[in-house]
Amino acid sequence: MREHCHCGQTMNLGFRLVIFEGSYEIDRVPIYECEDCCNYEVFPEIRDDLTDLLRELKQNKENVRVTFTEINELADLIFGIYRQWNRADAPSFRVMLEQQCEERINLLLDVYGCAKGMGDIEWMNDISKRLSQLSKYVRKRQLSKAN
Ligand SMILES: [Zn+2]
Repeated sequence: MREHCHCGQTMNLGFRLVIFEGSYEIDRVPIYECEDCCNYEVFPEIRDDLTDLLRELKQNKENVRVTFTEINELADLIFGIYRQWNRADAPSFRVMLEQQCEERINLLLDVYGCAKGMGDIEWMNDISKRLSQLSKYVRKRQLSKAN
């Protein structure tokens, strides 16, 4: 769960409330923070989803606080691992995340089948959105391993 900062120090994963333009509050955003120079960056694979969410909030003019882990499946899995993280015997964070992504994808596919059976279009759309958040990550990981 560490990345390297441009200053050479390690960056630790944390979850923060991020406020955009003073009115859009998105809580529990996974962020890497440098111990040394206060540099921080949003977890790379959720950056696009975060931008999309902000655009949606602006369109709907919702000045509410949303919890990112409830909206984004990948962030939810990262948060789950982060909370139970045990450095001593845990496999690499990325390996765990990948495994959990695949499990969650299978689960969501089952739920999708259920929603489809009920003809619940709204539910089906919600699930496909969540599926695409995960499959984007898995695809990227597979590509980076192939190279
Ligand atoms: Zn730094």
